[in-house]
Amino acid sequence: MRLLSGITVLINTLLTSTFTTDAFTLNPSTFAISSRHRAYNSALTMSSSEYDFDVAIIGCGVGGHGAALHSRAQSLKTAVFSGDDVGGTCVNRGCVPSKALLAASGRVREMQDEGHLSSFGISVEGEGVKFEREGIAKHAQGLANRVKGNLEASLVGLGVDVIVGRGVLTGKPNEVKDENTGKVYTCKDIILAPGSIPFVPPGVTVDEKTVYTSDGALQLQSIPEWVAIIGSGYIGLEFSDVYTALGSEVTFIEALDDLMPTFDREIAKLAERLLIRDRPIDYRTGVFASEVTPGIPGEKPVTIKMIDAKTKEHVETIEVDAAMVATGRVPNTKNMGLEDMGIETNRGFISVNSKMQVIPKPDSDPIPNLYCIGDANGKMMLAHAASAQGISAIENIAGRPHEVNHDSIPAACFTHPEIAMVGPTEEQCVERAEKEGWTMGKSQGSFRANSKALAEGEGQGIAKVLFKEETGEVVAVHIIGLHAADLIQECANAVAAGTTVKELSMMVHTHPTLCEVLDEAFKGAVGMSAH
Ligand SMILES: Cc1cc2nc3c(=O)[nH]c(=O)nc-3n(C[C@H](O)[C@H](O)[C@H](O)COP(=O)(O)OP(=O)(O)OC[C@H]3O[C@@H](n4cnc5c(N)ncnc54)[C@H](O)[C@@H]3O)c2cc1C
Repeated sequence: MRLLSGITVLINTLLTSTFTTDAFTLNPSTFAISSRHRAYNSALTMSSSEYDFDVAIIGCGVGGHGAALHSRAQSLKTAVFSGDDVGGTCVNRGCVPSKALLAASGRVREMQDEGHLSSFGISVEGEGVKFEREGIAKHAQGLANRVKGNLEASLVGLGVDVIVGRGVLTGKPNEVKDENTGKVYTCKDIILAPGSIPFVPPGVTVDEKTVYTSDGALQLQSIPEWVAIIGSGYIGLEFSDVYTALGSEVTFIEALDDLMPTFDREIAKLAERLLIRDRPIDYRTGVFASEVTPGIPGEKPVTIKMIDAKTKEHVETIEVDAAMVATGRVPNTKNMGLEDMGIETNRGFISVNSKMQVIPKPDSDPIPNLYCIGDANGKMMLAHAASAQGISAIENIAGRPHEVNHDSIPAACFTHPEIAMVGPTEEQCVERAEKEGWTMGKSQGSFRANSKALAEGEGQGIAKVLFKEETGEVVAVHIIGLHAADLIQECANAVAAGTTVKELSMMVHTHPTLCEVLDEAFKGAVGMSAH
């Protein structure tokens, strides 16, 4: 025992001294030093010598990366097959560059809003606001590269073996093959984290120049005068925010009867007022873009034929400068040897149980030592959910049973203003309450009466809290308003911890901050008034 704890102290000391040195500055230029750390850490690893690795992770998006880091924190000998794409969708083609575009275009919008600026006593004189498309695109690409470099450095620094090739299953347990070299590695546990790719509906031809998915849109190769966005989910909505700020007109084409169909209805209605009605945006709902043909920039328009979603009859054809296809994402699970392991997918999604273990067929037992995390299992297609599932899988591998509470994972749409949520929509809550036999309580806070929001000239929006009347437990929170994506975290923590509105109403919120919008809602839930 004493010997073991002595070793633990030694390992901890060495690890700590390794990672707190100034040399570990998450910068690609420190790679030389980092690779020394790699050898060092491998020597410390308490791995089973039977296998090349304790844990092999296929795919290095945020899910795979999160799993790899947590695996090393358990001193497990870890390899990640990166497919030469460290950071995956989120870093290279998703969250990170899209937020960079939103940050830059958001500033353009704000500086062009004369009424807003004059309320602060500010005016922009002369020729007004100028921006360069190339500069904004460079900001997004530069940020993606920087974050990717940080991720690579952290992997190497922590002693993860990064295998650049694609990893594929061989059909035998505990094996992963590097597709590039053909080398087969043995691994005690395998985590599949191959992520997702854009879904392109039949009839739509993508050239990534005039008709593009988010992959092409993020490069901002042009700012079209008129762009059709097919799909009004959060990716389409974020891009409408970017495009309208930079001067484009937008037409949404939505197959369902309502815009923003997955959002809470009350929030979607408010979003329609704040993010659509006052902007150069129009829309068609209940129609499919059945045929989309690319154009030639400056010469030939993009043609979009639309059919009624129910009758399938042709309703309209429009000619636009560009079309963005934002119709969701599909799992990236082809050609990775799943069939050889007897794994049946559900529309490409890999089924898992609550411990992230792969279930090969409906109702069958999990495959031992095989896990799947992130977008590929379809449980919740968000970056932080992927990472949380990766950590959870490692906990289970380490012998500490763990399950992710997906009900407490927040989500956000980074428009101006932002929308954020945790838990089910109000409509879903009503159904759940009826089914499970509890009464839904509802309380609301407003940005209109919030000093900080008014100081920023951004008094639009609400936060609504849905809770169980009987216990006070918070079930869901939906916010639209300034910095909603940051505000939601307090609510997500409350859902995760089972905190009640009574408890939350007695917690002190800083004045003057936007958090007081939530304070108002929590207090309102128990009959108190916020001042
Ligand atoms: C435009 C856009 C904006 C988004 N914004 C947000 C946001 O603001 N917040 C948020 O939470 N989420 C956002 N998302 C979603 C988020 O990007 C995904 O949920 C997240 O990236 C999923 O992570 P993952 O690790 O499961 O998969 P991915 O990030 O897709 O990574 C999987 C990786 O595995 C690689 N791979 C696949 N097969 C193999 C193989 N056989 N061998 C080796 N490597 C392989 C892939 O190339 C990829 O690099 C956004 C997505 C898009 C497209």
